[in-house]
Amino acid sequence: MKILVANLGSTSFKYKVFDMPRGQVLARGGMDRIGGQGSVHTWRLGDGPETRQEVALPDHAAAIDEALQRLIGPDRPLTALDDLGAVGFKTVHARGISGVVALDEDVIGRMVEYYPLAPAHNPAYVAAIRQFAKAAPAAPRVGCFESAFHGQAPLRRQLYAVPYDWYERYGVRRYGFHGASHRYAAEKVIELEGTRELRHVNCHLGGSSSLCAVRHGVSLGASHGLSPQSGVPQNNRVGDLDPYALDLVVRREGITFEAALEVCASQGGLLGICGRNDMRDIEDAAVAGDERCQLAVAMLSTAVRDYLGAYVVEMGGLDVISFTGGIGENSSIVRGQVLAGLEFLGVSLDAARNEALRGEGTLHAADSRVRIHVLKTDEELVVAKQTWEFLHPASA
Ligand code: ADP
Repeated sequence: MKILVANLGSTSFKYKVFDMPRGQVLARGGMDRIGGQGSVHTWRLGDGPETRQEVALPDHAAAIDEALQRLIGPDRPLTALDDLGAVGFKTVHARGISGVVALDEDVIGRMVEYYPLAPAHNPAYVAAIRQFAKAAPAAPRVGCFESAFHGQAPLRRQLYAVPYDWYERYGVRRYGFHGASHRYAAEKVIELEGTRELRHVNCHLGGSSSLCAVRHGVSLGASHGLSPQSGVPQNNRVGDLDPYALDLVVRREGITFEAALEVCASQGGLLGICGRNDMRDIEDAAVAGDERCQLAVAMLSTAVRDYLGAYVVEMGGLDVISFTGGIGENSSIVRGQVLAGLEFLGVSLDAARNEALRGEGTLHAADSRVRIHVLKTDEELVVAKQTWEFLHPASA
């Protein structure tokens, strides 16, 4: 069965087409700057060369049509639209929904209800689900919700100390996201280490960042809370914040509560501290002496260390740390700051390897008790597998 996996950002659309259950990638591609100027579609069919083309993409619907146009035809991954067996979505948040579900109108309605909690993700997903329903109605649409991997976290870790009926009536609790990436890392580390008996912290650090405590392959909790705007600072989203800050700003600036939230969701995080949101730019400026950029890097590293410490205590020790995501895979500066001075935990970083590593590998020194892995996450593969298993329950 050919399964297209859709990975959507507020202005981006990435996709992979898999032949399942073999897991072979038939095509991959991505588009950015949706809704803006200068969009480029970059795609690759099978092992063929990468092709780049400038395209006009007024909205996500146009991006999906553009992708389907490149994927269908003789000698292409899909001979016809009917060849598309299913579309799997790395869906983020919907009221009362977790796990893997068919994306019917009820679920879509629940995603719309949670637009305020996931403003960068839910509107893009709903637009894409609707467009695939129109463009390829015969292909079932399956949502693999990002919170599912964290569903076994103990209740004492899931709850906020708000009146208990906020949790019961409105679902106010910590959900944790990046489930596909944390699940991928958990399984990959078990494979690499040859055992499940591991106390493992995965650091997914990218445009969106979160940490997850994984004991024996099971998530004990993750740093994202009720919304993906929480936890460690994100590229332009705030991370953990005392809610009373909003009251103060709303009163002093004379803006609405919604406007203040919008600032937190689009002008906070690293961008809020140093005016830049791409870690490559931030690091270049930090190295050149920009103090705000140095502060932003240090704040991200400090927040990562805070969660790391909490998770080590929760698990009663540590066997493996892994890094993934665009920053985790590439930023030796952030990794170096996160792991500095942790020899008392048995973590000893090989500084030269940290500097030199490009792509996947290990970073622990010969005398390190804790292993340090850098992984290239494959969220799409996780979603393709989950979509396949959902549609073939007997073979799961
Ligand atoms: P998303 O959450 O949007 O999928 P990614 O996982 O692709 O994000 O990560 C994007 C982030 O990774 C950006 O902040 C980018 O600057 C950072 N990044 C990518 N390459 C490098 C690099 N070589 N050095 C430092 N940061 C990098």
